[in-house]
Amino acid sequence: MEKWILIFAVVVTSLDLGSGSINGYFNLDEINDLIDDYQLQYPSLQKEIVGKTFYDREIKALRMANPHKPRILVIGAHHARELISITNIFYLLDYIMTNKSLSLRTEREILFIPLLNVDGLSAISDEFNKTNKILEIRKNIRPTGCKIEDQGIDLNRNYGYKWGYNNHGSSTDPCGEEYRGTSAFSEKETQTIRDLIDIYMFDSVISYHSYGDLYIRPTGYTHTDLSEFPKSHQNLYNDLKKILPSTFKFGTVNEVLGYNANGALMDYLYSLGIFCIEVEIGPEKYNSFHPDISKVKGILDSHLEPFLLLVQRTDSELIADVSGNGRRLVIDVRNDGIATSSNCEIHVQFEQSLDVTVLSHQLHQIEKKILKVKIPPISSEEKEVITLLVRGDIEKFNVTVNFEGGSQHKGFSGEIEIHKLGSRNNLVWIIVISVISVMALFVLLLIYTFYKSKNDTKFIELAEIQVYA
Ligand SMILES: [Zn+2]
Repeated sequence: MEKWILIFAVVVTSLDLGSGSINGYFNLDEINDLIDDYQLQYPSLQKEIVGKTFYDREIKALRMANPHKPRILVIGAHHARELISITNIFYLLDYIMTNKSLSLRTEREILFIPLLNVDGLSAISDEFNKTNKILEIRKNIRPTGCKIEDQGIDLNRNYGYKWGYNNHGSSTDPCGEEYRGTSAFSEKETQTIRDLIDIYMFDSVISYHSYGDLYIRPTGYTHTDLSEFPKSHQNLYNDLKKILPSTFKFGTVNEVLGYNANGALMDYLYSLGIFCIEVEIGPEKYNSFHPDISKVKGILDSHLEPFLLLVQRTDSELIADVSGNGRRLVIDVRNDGIATSSNCEIHVQFEQSLDVTVLSHQLHQIEKKILKVKIPPISSEEKEVITLLVRGDIEKFNVTVNFEGGSQHKGFSGEIEIHKLGSRNNLVWIIVISVISVMALFVLLLIYTFYKSKNDTKFIELAEIQVYA
């Protein structure tokens, strides 16, 4: 298994981190230019318009397309002023594209949305052009009768699971920081994310915010114990926690910030069974959504390893178990990973030539001693059972099961017994007893027929005598 963990202290990318015109951060035109540049520079990246905003601006994405591979959605800037989260998306993208040794470029499908809150950032960009001041806009500036900084809906309180559960960390005040809107999914930006999830059913979602160096897991509306999550999600959350720097915090929003919040993206994804993490970039000490640009590289580097772990572990983990049951060979393939498996094939290799029939699956072929069976995609924590019928004069044999077309999959190798119900000795006895039984029945039938015919003759004779009398 390949590890994508950083081994170099200095991370090299081609992105000019301090080149943006908002104190080194990128304004809206520069973000659009960067998206175009990346698409031109790397033909494997596809530029997509995934939605529109209230003011009809385009929400753009770059797709690292690898069909049938695990799918990850990476989002920046639900909140407009969190400028470092936008830079972070380009940094991650750049890291993947410029480090040619990374096999994840072909092993994962990743949709990068550097900027979700396009209207909010547009207002920040315009104001900075005029006054050289950064407007601290959090919401999407849709008109709600407030001054520009307080205008609009908090996009990360507008998602449709437990929306408006209570007024803790989400507000009914149109000028409040956490105004959740008039209904769940009332905003075009959240509708865009909802529709993308419906279409692509991502295996995991990473949403970047700032700040605090926090890794926040669901749920936000109330505390949900980690034990209530699928085992594969628990494992990944626990492993992520282990590699975080000691100054970072991991937990629910209540555990790391001391309050609950409803209507967040992560809770919506939790309700769909999709793995999600929300990351707040930048240490608390800088007290800024866009810290001094000289600090940015160090901050972004500290979040690179957790990102690579999350991407690496967004995978299927198929495990094969083989057992014998009479003349049947049963292969259980279960998926312990968080991603749905891609179409893959299992190869069952026998030590000796056997007469084998596949009872459960149609798509298969046999080449010498190797049986190849195509198995459909298996969802996380689900399993597929392959049943074979083995004929022939054999009770024990060695079998090896391998996977083709997937990664991180554990096969099986070992000796299997299949004689429990139908060994040769039992079969001989069954045949002998059957033959004797049939012969005995035949003899009994003969005796019965003989006596019956005798009695019938007597009866006819008697009947004839009566008639003649
Ligand atoms: Zn935020």
